[in-house]
Amino acid sequence: MRWRQYLLVFLLFLTLVMGNCLLFDYFKEQQGMLFGEDLNLDSIRQDMVYFPVAESSFDPSGYQVTYADSYGSARNFGGDRAHEGCDLMASSNRRGHYPIVSISDGVVEKIGWLKLGGYRIGIRSPHGVYFYYAHLNDYFREFAVGDRIEAGEVLGFMGDSGYGEEEGTTGMFPVHLHLGIYLNDKDGREKTANPFPFLQELEKKKMRFYFE
Ligand SMILES: [Zn+2]
Repeated sequence: MRWRQYLLVFLLFLTLVMGNCLLFDYFKEQQGMLFGEDLNLDSIRQDMVYFPVAESSFDPSGYQVTYADSYGSARNFGGDRAHEGCDLMASSNRRGHYPIVSISDGVVEKIGWLKLGGYRIGIRSPHGVYFYYAHLNDYFREFAVGDRIEAGEVLGFMGDSGYGEEEGTTGMFPVHLHLGIYLNDKDGREKTANPFPFLQELEKKKMRFYFE
């Protein structure tokens, strides 16, 4: 009779494990967070050249930024959704000072105001990675969709734009760069990748600018 009890416990265990896996997959899918085996993360490494925030002569400290692995954590504005990216926080909360540079070569795919992203620019790299830079204070020059961009080119300056119905809203949160990395899986569905490990790899690839 013992073996029946064992079988029962085993079946219960199997049900729980499988149920959890299915549930977990479901949530990952809901949040657009499926990444890993079906994403070719090499394409990110092939195209990334520079850390997205340059050091600048505005500040002798070099305008250090801090960032944490907050990928997937909850965000409340505009309904519940996962944080699809990484926030690089300014050590000094001053908008319009930290230069934001393009991580990769590429082509401007999106430009202009977004309610959530503020002044943003989206650049598609040669291997098809979409780098999304949000909350800029201003753009370095006038960009248009289709413009060619070189890695290290200044895109604009870090700010706190966004989270407002009206274009130009600022002051809703501290100055920071929101960086998102998107790429398509083998079935052509857009997925997000966690920028954190790539930012860490780029730590030693910071540009430095001297402004008059
Ligand atoms: Zn963010």
